[in-house]
Amino acid sequence: MSMAVAVLGLGAMGSRMAARLLAAGHPVTVWNRSPDKAQPLVAQGARVAPTPAAAARDADVVIAMVRDDAASNSVWVDPHDGALIAMKPGAIAIESSTLSPDYVATLARLAEHAGVKLLDAPVSGSRAAADGGQLVFLVGGDAEVFEHASPVLKAMGSAVHHVGPIGHGMLAKLATNALLGIHVTAFAEIVGLLQRHGASAAKVLQAVSATPVWAPVDAYLSGTMLSRDFRPQFPIELIAKDFGYVLDAADGAEHAPTAAAALQVFKRAVEHGLGDLNMTGVVKLYGSN
Ligand code: NAP
Repeated sequence: MSMAVAVLGLGAMGSRMAARLLAAGHPVTVWNRSPDKAQPLVAQGARVAPTPAAAARDADVVIAMVRDDAASNSVWVDPHDGALIAMKPGAIAIESSTLSPDYVATLARLAEHAGVKLLDAPVSGSRAAADGGQLVFLVGGDAEVFEHASPVLKAMGSAVHHVGPIGHGMLAKLATNALLGIHVTAFAEIVGLLQRHGASAAKVLQAVSATPVWAPVDAYLSGTMLSRDFRPQFPIELIAKDFGYVLDAADGAEHAPTAAAALQVFKRAVEHGLGDLNMTGVVKLYGSN
């Protein structure tokens, strides 16, 4: 069954998610703060709205995919242009950006006040997964609302997991990114260490890949680090933002010292002007690579 969908935020991820929804046959209305990013989607059949409220007015499902808590607050909650006040009764709001659980708890209260059903549904997977409809959705919220929204999520993702009540989608996403980012920073150090010792990092890592410690993501991490392919997929600047949320959710560095150390590495990379590079670009902080 096709549902009318509004997509708010057409950055690297939101634009690709909107394209998948169009390809699946859903009528899609889009809005982006910088309007020029909507044009390629118009060519694919999307309608463009001038504000989040205008995009949301007739939608069955409204999806936001923006940078951070502040951006999300402005697209949902703005008293003039925000989507929540404009949504029709029974419509579903889906927040897919990676945000802090505290902020999502506040958003949930505001959504309830506005009579809107909210799911937090952040995604694992980057630009290629979004292009191919292979995102993994980690969803928090009411189980019935989740069932109702699932066909829309499945147009963009290969897996859709309901993990608990509202906010738990973000916890699952922060857990995923904490593990990913700690892996990235550790891998970057190891590559630097190997190179400083004059070892062939490619050869050594090939051998390590035959041991049980090798994780599924490691081929991607080592491949991009060794080939120096730092074209942005998941930029350093965004994963640094997520580690800030991890530390907040953990109630500070004393409860999450490993995540705190990884955050310092990502921050240092941003200070060195590497923020726009893919996350694996942190390897540039170490060794000769
Ligand atoms: P992006 O390419 O940087 O796009 C950011 C989007 O947020 C743009 O549409 C931008 O609008 C909008 N935005 C920023 N500040 C805003 C504000 N104050 N008000 C309204 N809109 C604002 O980022 P992305 O890669 O698409 O990521 C979007 C979200 O998905 C983030 O939360 C990110 O952490 C998460 N995520 C990313 C990846 C990935 O691999 N890239 C993977 C999983 C999850 P403008 O175009 O006007 O700047």
